[in-house]
Amino acid sequence: MSKKITILGAGLVGSLLAILLQKRGYQVTVLERRPDMRKLTYSAGKSINLAMSMRGWAGLELAGLRKEIEEIAIPMYGRQIHPISGEPVFQAYGKHEEAIYSVSRGELNRKLMTLAEACGVDIRFEQRVTDVDLPTNTISIEDGDKTLSHSDHDVVMAADGAFSALRNAYLRRDRFSYSQLYIEHGYKELCIPAGPNGEFLLDKQALHIWPRRNFMLIALPNTDATFTCTLFLPFEGEHSFENLKTPEAAKSFFETQFPDALALMPTFLEDFFGNPTSSLVIVKCFPWVYQDKNMLIGDAAHAIVPFYGQGMNCGFEDCNVLMSILDNNPDADWTGILAQYQEARKRNGDAVADLAMLNFVEMRDKVADPEFLRRKQIEKELGLLYPAFFNSVYEMVSFSHTSYHVALHCQKAQDELLGKILAAGDFSANLLREDFKKDLDAWMQAYGEKVKEVA
Ligand SMILES: Cc1cc2nc3c(=O)[nH]c(=O)nc-3n(C[C@H](O)[C@H](O)[C@H](O)COP(=O)(O)OP(=O)(O)OC[C@H]3O[C@@H](n4cnc5c(N)ncnc54)[C@H](O)[C@@H]3O)c2cc1C
Repeated sequence: MSKKITILGAGLVGSLLAILLQKRGYQVTVLERRPDMRKLTYSAGKSINLAMSMRGWAGLELAGLRKEIEEIAIPMYGRQIHPISGEPVFQAYGKHEEAIYSVSRGELNRKLMTLAEACGVDIRFEQRVTDVDLPTNTISIEDGDKTLSHSDHDVVMAADGAFSALRNAYLRRDRFSYSQLYIEHGYKELCIPAGPNGEFLLDKQALHIWPRRNFMLIALPNTDATFTCTLFLPFEGEHSFENLKTPEAAKSFFETQFPDALALMPTFLEDFFGNPTSSLVIVKCFPWVYQDKNMLIGDAAHAIVPFYGQGMNCGFEDCNVLMSILDNNPDADWTGILAQYQEARKRNGDAVADLAMLNFVEMRDKVADPEFLRRKQIEKELGLLYPAFFNSVYEMVSFSHTSYHVALHCQKAQDELLGKILAAGDFSANLLREDFKKDLDAWMQAYGEKVKEVA
C-alpha cells in the first residue's frame, strides 16, 4: 500500500497519529496552522489540563510515551463534592482505587510533537489549510500572504479539530450528513494558586466539583500545586455569564455559590475578566471518509462536550483502532482500510457524544442528590457481588476498553436495573432476604442478556 500521508493538525490526535504511522514505515507530513508551541512561552489552549484515562494511556503506550507522561500525571481517585454548606464528600471512581489522571495539555502536546519529529515526521507550522479538493486530494494552504498547494501524498488524515477544513470540504459532498449543536453553557477558566509553602490547597488526588444544578465549577490539580478551575455556566438566563458583567456581580455570585473556592482565588477578578468565555460544541457527521483519499479523526470527526473527559481519549482510541486495522490487513487497499475504520468508529463517536451530555447532568445536578448517592453505592456492591457481570458505566468508559456504544446501551439497561432495585427499598436489608436475592439474580440475568445483544 502506498506510503505517503499528510495529516492536518499537530494537536493531540494529529501528533499521536503521526508518530504511530511514521513508526509503521509511512512517510508523514503534518500541516499545522499555529506557530510551534515549543518556541512560545505561553500557549493559549482549550484547557490547561486534561483528564487522561485508560483509552488515552493505550494510545501513549503504543507510541512509547506512557512512562514519560505518567511522571507528569496526577492521579485523581474520585470526585470531591463541595456542597454550598457543609463538609466536602469524596466519591471514589472505581471499586479498586482506579484513577483518572490530570495531565498538562501543553506539555503532552509538546512531547508528542518532539517524539514525532524524532521519528522522522515533517511538521510544518503556520500552514493554515483552507480547503481540500476531494477528487484530486489537493490541499490549499495559507502560508503568511502566500497561497500554496500540496498534493504529494496518497492519503490525507484530518485531525484539525472541531472546525476541520477537510470536513468543511465534505459539506459540499452529496449525501454528507452534518449536525453542529452549541450547548447553552459556556466555560471560563480560573485558578487556585499553590499555598504559601508551595502546597496544594485542596486534596490533589481528587477532581473537585461544586455542583449547583444547572451550572458547576470544577478543579483539576497541576504538578506545580495549582488547580485549574473551570466554571460551566449558561450564557443567558438567571445564573449566567450575561449577568456577571461587572466585578461586583461576579464576586457576589461566587460569594453566594462557591464561597470556599473563592476564598482560595486571590486573582479571581483578574482571571474572571482576563480569561475568555468559550463555547462548547457537539459535532456529528457522516461519512468520515472519502473513497481511498481522505478521512476525519479526533475532534474533526466527533467534537463532544468535555464532561466525561473523553474527547482526547476517544481521539487516541481512534488512532489505536486505525493502527490495528492497518496491522491486521497488510494487503488491503486504502478504500478498504478507511471503510473499516469508519465502520469501527462512527457509532462510538456518536455514543461518546451522548455519554458526555448525560455525564454533564450527572456532575452538575445529581452528584449531591441522596438518591444518586444510594445508586452509586448499589452499583459498587453489584460490582462486588457480580464481578464478572457488572461494571458501572463510569468504569466502562474510564477504566476499560468497552466500546462507547456498548457503554451507552448499558447505561439504559442499568437505569432499568437500578430502578427496580431502588424501588424495592433498602438494598442492604433486602440482600438478607432469600426472595429478594432470587429476584436480583433474575434481574441480573435479564441485564446480562440485554448487554449481550449489543456486545
Ligand atoms: C474545556 C475542555 C476540557 C477538556 N477536557 C478533556 C479531558 O479532560 N479529557 C479528554 O480526553 N478530553 C478533553 N477535552 C477534549 C479535548 O480537548 C479534545 O477532544 C482534543 O483536544 C481533540 O484533539 P484533536 O487533535 O482532535 O483536536 P485539537 O486539539 O483541536 O487540535 C487540532 C489541531 O489542528 C490545528 N488546526 C485547526 N485547523 C487547522 C487548519 N485549518 N489548518 C491547519 N491546522 C489546523 C489546530 O491548531 C490544532 O493544533 C476537553 C475539551 C475542552 C474544550
